[in-house]
Amino acid sequence: MSIRDYGLPNSRPLGPPTLVKVHSEPLEGARPECPACGCKALCEIAVEVEQPLLKGGRGVGTYLSCPACPWAAPMIVRATPTSTPEA
Ligand SMILES: [Zn+2]
Repeated sequence: MSIRDYGLPNSRPLGPPTLVKVHSEPLEGARPECPACGCKALCEIAVEVEQPLLKGGRGVGTYLSCPACPWAAPMIVRATPTSTPEA
């Protein structure tokens, strides 16, 4: 059973999530607020995921989440840029 939505079906986290930043100041004109409990500080979390629909089969998912309700925010997944240099 999945405890949260990783944005696209069949996404699988490849490692532990990373805390990018804590947002407690107004963001894009509005104060961040958890949709579930109303907490005023949201954590920006990034996690690498395996996702067959992405180019390269993997990507990085980012979500803004309350510390108490990480399941409340949708995740946005983008493909990992290829590490192969194209000169
Ligand atoms: Zn919350």
